[in-house]
Amino acid sequence: MGETKYIFVTGGVASSLGKGIMSSSIGKLLQARGYKVTIQKFDPYINIDPGTLNPYEHGECYVTVDGHEADLDLGHYERFLGIQTTKANNITTGRIYKSVIDKERRGDYLGKTIQVIPHITDEIKRNVKLLGNKYKFDFVITEIGGTVGDIESLPYLESIRQLKWELGRDALCVHLTYVPFLAAAKELKTKPTQHSVKELQSLGVQPDIIVLRAEHELNANIRKKVALFCNVEESAVVQSVDLSTIYEVPLKMQEQGLDETILRKMGLPIGEKPELGPWKEFLKRRVSAKEVVTIALVGKYVELQDAYKSILESLSQAATYNDHKLKIEYVQSEALTNENVEEKLGHVDGVVICPGFGQRGIEGKFVAAKYTREHNKPTFGICLGMQCMAIEFARNVLGYADANSREMDEKTPHNVIDIMEEQKSITNMGGTMRLGAYECIINKNSKTFEAYHSEHIQERHRHRYEFNNEYKAEFEKHGMACVGINPESDLVEIIEIPALKWYIGTQFHPEYSSTVLHPHPLFLSFIKAAISK
Ligand code: GLN
Repeated sequence: MGETKYIFVTGGVASSLGKGIMSSSIGKLLQARGYKVTIQKFDPYINIDPGTLNPYEHGECYVTVDGHEADLDLGHYERFLGIQTTKANNITTGRIYKSVIDKERRGDYLGKTIQVIPHITDEIKRNVKLLGNKYKFDFVITEIGGTVGDIESLPYLESIRQLKWELGRDALCVHLTYVPFLAAAKELKTKPTQHSVKELQSLGVQPDIIVLRAEHELNANIRKKVALFCNVEESAVVQSVDLSTIYEVPLKMQEQGLDETILRKMGLPIGEKPELGPWKEFLKRRVSAKEVVTIALVGKYVELQDAYKSILESLSQAATYNDHKLKIEYVQSEALTNENVEEKLGHVDGVVICPGFGQRGIEGKFVAAKYTREHNKPTFGICLGMQCMAIEFARNVLGYADANSREMDEKTPHNVIDIMEEQKSITNMGGTMRLGAYECIINKNSKTFEAYHSEHIQERHRHRYEFNNEYKAEFEKHGMACVGINPESDLVEIIEIPALKWYIGTQFHPEYSSTVLHPHPLFLSFIKAAISK
């Protein structure tokens, strides 16, 4: 196609408007037209990456195949586009500054005073263009975290100003804002949008397209008004009203010609409107599903919908492909006891024991693992969830009452989960876990194999502890099989109890690789087991 085109997605008025979903939807529509597209997220915070951030601060930490601990929006990009992102798709202010400071220490700047403009902005611009230059993408979409008006965002917006100036038609800015409905006045208000666009303009950035997020349909007058006040064409003002599923957003954007407006503004041929057949088929199945499958999520962040984002999306995709609606029941692991477990889990169709770190809520995860094992209820343990399944089995089947993970009890004599050898000497917390995709060989005589239909798989990891191989023979003798093994390190990656309906734990995180058009086989088979009576 020639030169890479750059689309920037900024946000105004409020955070959490869904810039990630909008970036993914634009990416999806351009990809459907045959373009090679990638999406990246630039976060204005100082952390090097979100790996050390508490889920209360930042929701789930997503992991890329190359082992980067990333913002959860990268999960949306992968689920919508079916692409794989990498470390280069997620930049933070911390990384920008670190790179500039490293260059300064090396003497690369030849005695110059290092300043936000041009040194920080040059580094931002270099990173904006990195993927485009290296892999020749047709489109690189860059989502800017935060909201216009934040102090932290200024260097990013200045970089967009410069890039728009340098690249002309090859750069475009989509600004996502919020149109509140004032119930007392029964009116939708555009003033916050006008202010947010003025703020952008005062920084020298004229948005080319404005997307108005709203809870209610906007009439043509509202869009006309925004166009008039904000210097954009009427056709370049689109609305994004709350929908029952985020996966409908690309279709709503296509209906309003958002992709066509982008192509026109960037001087590209419009061509035929893509059918998006499989995508529509997925949505049709989702909407027409009647029966409900109820899954309990046992974890400690139950009041946070973003903390287990990828698990929720993977479950919902798998439910759709099994023609069921998904109902999630959050079970706070801290409050789960042998006394109330029947009431909390007795009626659900399946249980997911969630990943996590540290002691808090761990006993409840053992309670859940024991209850579902004894009641033959489909159970999926992910990372810490898998480790809890193994510990519970060691305690109650092998008879080691003090069995534990070294993470929870450094001195346990029955360390069925132990610290990995290469983790012992590590003191820095950031980016030092076993991270990213590793190979795993699956035993052909297993439920796991029935799900994957493949012996060789690759899955993404994020942990410091592992199943202790010294106990492997004893576990297997008593009915818990180690059915997935890393061929290089011999680490146990998957355990299951073959005698039960579906009781599988994975040391890796399958939820990171389930997409709308390629749902993950383990989630599909878990939901299938949960609905089979
Ligand atoms: N805390 C466990 C470990 O480090 C599990 C991590 C996880 O669930 N992602 O091994």
